[in-house]
Amino acid sequence: MEARWGKLARARNPVFKAPIPMSLSTAEIIAQLTALLGPGGVIADPAQMGAYLNEPRKRFHVPAIAVGLPATVEQVQAIARFANEHGVGLIPQGGNTGLVGAQVPLRGDEVIISLSRLDKVRAIDIAAGTMTVEAGMILENAHKAAEAEGAMFPLWLASQGSARIGGVLSSNAGGVNVLAFGNARELCMGVEAVLADGRLYQGLSSLKKDNTGYDLKDLLVGAEGTLGIITAATLKIFPQPEEFETALVNVASPEVALTLFQSLRERAGSRLNAFELIPWIGLDIQLRHGMLDRDPTAGPSPWYALVEISRMKGGTSGALQSALEAAFETGLVDNAVIAESLADRTRMWDFREQMSECQSREGASIKHDVSVPIAAVPQLIAEGSIAAQRVVPGIRPVPFGHMGDGNIHFNFSQPVGADGKAFMAGAEPVHAAIYEIVLKLGGSVSAEHGIGQLKTELLKQVKDPVALEMMHAIKNALDPKGIMNPGKMLG
Ligand SMILES: Cc1cc2nc3c(=O)[nH]c(=O)nc-3n(C[C@H](O)[C@H](O)[C@H](O)COP(=O)(O)OP(=O)(O)OC[C@H]3O[C@@H](n4cnc5c(N)ncnc54)[C@H](O)[C@@H]3O)c2cc1C
Repeated sequence: MEARWGKLARARNPVFKAPIPMSLSTAEIIAQLTALLGPGGVIADPAQMGAYLNEPRKRFHVPAIAVGLPATVEQVQAIARFANEHGVGLIPQGGNTGLVGAQVPLRGDEVIISLSRLDKVRAIDIAAGTMTVEAGMILENAHKAAEAEGAMFPLWLASQGSARIGGVLSSNAGGVNVLAFGNARELCMGVEAVLADGRLYQGLSSLKKDNTGYDLKDLLVGAEGTLGIITAATLKIFPQPEEFETALVNVASPEVALTLFQSLRERAGSRLNAFELIPWIGLDIQLRHGMLDRDPTAGPSPWYALVEISRMKGGTSGALQSALEAAFETGLVDNAVIAESLADRTRMWDFREQMSECQSREGASIKHDVSVPIAAVPQLIAEGSIAAQRVVPGIRPVPFGHMGDGNIHFNFSQPVGADGKAFMAGAEPVHAAIYEIVLKLGGSVSAEHGIGQLKTELLKQVKDPVALEMMHAIKNALDPKGIMNPGKMLG
């Protein structure tokens, strides 16, 4: 394979064993699934599979044989045993909100296993700071379950009303609170999972210390369903903050945002929950398309930083205000608006969370979910914008996102008036230009969305070859017949 991104011309692209050919017809597979799950547990009519096949990016349009809806862990085990015996590919699915096509078919001969019926809270232990829930629980319901006990599960994503715990863990999702609490992997203490051959790995644990060998939980988290089906997880929960102080700060450039980030970190430490960067074009698009009832910012600015600090019980109020006053005094920033009500805070977060969607109102967009060391974010944005504009004159850079994590969604809207299809047909050289800069800066070509079927070829080109061999060895050991989410991640 031609190494377009240089670094990994050395990649050896180890070949993964092809799944064994299926020995059953489609009708036989559906009949067997129905025998295992009952008629209400199987969707075999293509007209009723839309919710499981239509993914958010609308890029992948391959049918599935059926959707299985197990209601118990034992049913998940029975499906795996059956699929392993007959070489049937299984795709574990949560809320179908993934952005890299990992949760939808690649070949058309797979069965989707939706965990949506396994959605109960198993236990909440406030003293231990843990909550054990089934994999099909919707993320927002996990938030509510923790809140009902006066606690907080701090993984917040714009897709939290649909994404489910198993999907969130399997894609090692990030979101807006990674800065203070880490990504899904760091928020998970243990998992229960059905392996490809139907065995149950009982790894639910609330131990903070356990040095008894390999961390198998960390293998299953972020595996995109290629190593097993997570059925439940023990998650970390935290005391609820008394208050969130939220502000939208006008910043002149990403460099200024970086300096502001460092000064807020010095003052607030781990209470700095979020530091999100948004370019002016994002506000312009949202206002023009009526996506905001009013401008949530303090006025025009090339960039905005959405910052949030939490205050715990007994803590002093006004930490964000005094930190921003210090930034005004040094001349670092000259305008900001601090949320004075829940409505203000909601409006600020809506502005941030609508960044992805708003681009579709302006036609086609080319997207990159990348990360670099935080100090290199300004260089990434500057060099990436110039490089893309060189490839497509008039292209509109819309880089936004989790600046505090070095994770920028480096998106580009089509030139005004351009033909969307032609613009997308020319995406490859834009990707190449951005990934080359990301790799030069020591970054990652997938910060939080994963590999799925979108980036399998890219992974082969950029991942360390020894790491790739280790990944294949693990896959072959745990799923020798290749039935778990075939073709995803490792290709
Ligand atoms: C509007 C929007 C905003 C988003 N914002 C963010 C963001 O800020 N940060 C971020 O990281 N992501 C974000 N995402 C991406 C997506 O929401 C997350 O990746 C989410 O964690 C996926 O959860 P899901 O339940 O929808 O998983 P799915 O899409 O159903 O599946 C994702 C992957 O997990 C696997 N999987 C699902 N369930 C299981 C299981 N029980 N066992 C094993 N494997 C399983 C699937 O096979 C697939 O590989 C966003 C998506 C949208 C649409």
